[in-house]
Amino acid sequence: MHHLASTEGILKKALGYGHQIHPDALKLLVAQDDEKALEVLDSLSEKFLEAIVIDAEHVKEILGETAVKKPVKTRKVGSKLTGKITQIYDGSGLIQRCPKCNRWIIDNFCIVHSDVEGVWDLRIKARFEDGKERCTLIFKKDVTEKSANITLEEAKKLGEAATLERIKNALIGKNIKIEGVKLNGNFLVKDIREV
Ligand SMILES: [Zn+2]
Repeated sequence: MHHLASTEGILKKALGYGHQIHPDALKLLVAQDDEKALEVLDSLSEKFLEAIVIDAEHVKEILGETAVKKPVKTRKVGSKLTGKITQIYDGSGLIQRCPKCNRWIIDNFCIVHSDVEGVWDLRIKARFEDGKERCTLIFKKDVTEKSANITLEEAKKLGEAATLERIKNALIGKNIKIEGVKLNGNFLVKDIREV
């Protein structure tokens, strides 16, 4: 892992996520060890996606959470569900992300960074039902490639509409077993197979 336990390193990383950082927040982060500072910055950018300035309260909140949440997280690793995908949501398939903050963007325009050169990515957001409950599944690139049997390069050639069609055909209505991690009410899929 990249070491950054310096004021400069933390500033650079925060800016990379599209945030400015308050001097008090910076002091708190510099006081953490490398790994912890990185973890907090990652969580900050997920939780306070829209925050322009990260202040000390943001950092304290995350520090409090990561301290409490850790054992819960480990327990939830390896969750398994069996059921059906009933809908693929908008924003699935071949998408563009901002190279600076990783947000999903459209037409090379980021709400924070304005005109950027979008980076292509693959993801799926889907509604999943097991007969009793429903939840939203999130597939990152690797699992998307595997479950729709398509690579990012192939998807770029096919285009957005055809890629989405391929994903829908591969997933909707099939009985599947998934393994993954629960994250803020969503389910991050790590593995999927048809049953
Ligand atoms: Zn951006």
